[in-house]
Amino acid sequence: MNECIFCKIVARDLPAEILYETEQVIAFRDLNPVAPQHILIIPTKHIASTNGLEEEDAVVVGDMHLAAAEIAKREGFDKSGFRTVMNCGLDGGQTVFHMHLHLLGGRTMSWPPG
Ligand code: 5GP
Ligand code: ZN
Repeated sequence: MNECIFCKIVARDLPAEILYETEQVIAFRDLNPVAPQHILIIPTKHIASTNGLEEEDAVVVGDMHLAAAEIAKREGFDKSGFRTVMNCGLDGGQTVFHMHLHLLGGRTMSWPPG
């Protein structure tokens, strides 16, 4: 998995503004933010996408959402609200194939998404 850019961020081989870290989960600011707050939450273990999830990954998926709530609180946008998005595959708009949860806040989101 050496070519995966998010694995490189986990290994500190690529720089990122890391906001949160446990053994299972790491979160950092998106390089091209689409909202005033745009944070990516990823498992430290390489999982390509939702399609690549196995039974044993159930806990880490929960941990990613707990991280989202904690980061929103720390950054002060928990009360105003936020959106979490996980894109999967081509139609989902996934471009980086290391599963990640987008945490978006700081503005009112529209629905439906594009
Ligand atoms: P996706 O389109 O796969 O759901 O989201 C990938 C996200 O990763 C995009 O929002 C993109 O801006 C972000 N991204 C791509 N490369 C890098 C990088 O090297 N560093 C950081 N921090 N974000 C990245
Ligand atoms: Zn990876």
